[in-house]
Amino acid sequence: MPTRDTRAVGKLQALVRIPTVSRRDPDLIDTATFDDFLVELALQFPLLHQRLELTRIHTHGLLFHWRGRSDRRPVVLMAHLDVVPVDEDAPWQHPPFAADLVDDHVWGRGTLDDKGSLVAICEAVETLLERDVTPAQDVWLSFGCDEEVMGRAAPQAVAELVRRGVRPWFVLDEGGAIAHEAFPGIAAPIGVIGVAEKGVASLELRVDGRGGHASTPARMGPTARLARAIVRLDRSPMATSTPEALLELFRRIAPRAPLALRPLMANAARIRPVLTRALVAAGPETAALTRTTIAVTTLSGSPALNVIASTARAGVNIRVMVGDTVAGVVDHVRRAIDDDRVQISVVEQIEPSPVSPRDEAFALLERTIGEVFVHAVPAPYVMMAATDSRFFTEICERVYRFAPFRMTKAQRESIHSYDEHLGVDDLLDGVRWYRALLEGLPR
Ligand SMILES: [Zn+2]
Repeated sequence: MPTRDTRAVGKLQALVRIPTVSRRDPDLIDTATFDDFLVELALQFPLLHQRLELTRIHTHGLLFHWRGRSDRRPVVLMAHLDVVPVDEDAPWQHPPFAADLVDDHVWGRGTLDDKGSLVAICEAVETLLERDVTPAQDVWLSFGCDEEVMGRAAPQAVAELVRRGVRPWFVLDEGGAIAHEAFPGIAAPIGVIGVAEKGVASLELRVDGRGGHASTPARMGPTARLARAIVRLDRSPMATSTPEALLELFRRIAPRAPLALRPLMANAARIRPVLTRALVAAGPETAALTRTTIAVTTLSGSPALNVIASTARAGVNIRVMVGDTVAGVVDHVRRAIDDDRVQISVVEQIEPSPVSPRDEAFALLERTIGEVFVHAVPAPYVMMAATDSRFFTEICERVYRFAPFRMTKAQRESIHSYDEHLGVDDLLDGVRWYRALLEGLPR
């Protein structure tokens, strides 16, 4: 057997060892670390840095332009350089910034989210440059530096493309994966490609009233009123429906499903209401696929045990389903609480993304998945989390979210958590996948 070129592994290790941790407060960001990271990236991918035109974006964001034979259908490949902080108490099996190579996996923060993609994209480009390949279409690489804190780099990269008159044919960012153990009873991995993402809204519920001494309480004070509002909200989930992308996913995996389930899955569209009820019944994860979710997260009241709160507050985090709007959800919350003395304010809001079409560009992604991951079933889905790619929907109707890495359930759960790790073979197949994608761009 020919030995595989494994140099991408060392590159990933070098970059994981530089802890580019994002912070919401700009004063807390270690900018020297980000500087070091960009120096290391240039060392690891010398040809890419020599031959592609680079525009610095915001503080440490990068936008590379690789001129193709045509600029008619430019594509944008995205990844981000920053990572979320590490919880010091989390039981990592291997130190989060050591990038240890153990059991044929690289362990560390950012291996999956999102330095693996960064390295795979850059290594694919580097190896094509070594062979003097010119892509059929213009290729832009957009690497954000503050994705994890919803920062400014991605919108500024979009502004730069607008300034240059670039209308991408498609944009590809993190999100989906070659997901193993995605559905019980389905052995085949599913190559899930995000065609849309849920929106996000945060609300504050606030009740003001007379505080005072705990020895002389009145009925329905701020805390009791807030508690009633929370219970009412908990009893009023939003309406459910199975999104079209999920129906398509079921249709595609039907042939691989257990025999008893096949007819149901193949006819998912016709039994949509039954299917939706089944997804809701199967647990919170699958229920979240079918509706806007509302979660009460933070709570505050009196600072002292013997003082009645004059103000009680609750934070509410909402993930807005494609098809709903933030304003519509706020209306729902107001009606559910049904109490004018509970003030509702919107702290942040991002509408759900448009749904990208499944046309020629989507087919190219599917075909490329088929070439590298022969057993995987490519399928569309709606992402639950927000990515930088949402800003690109302003300039491009085909925005897809997919990382070409096999991921187990445990690996998916390690993202933003602990024990994040990426298999060596999975990284190398990821490099192959991006290379195949770049070589497969249509003329
Ligand atoms: Zn990410």
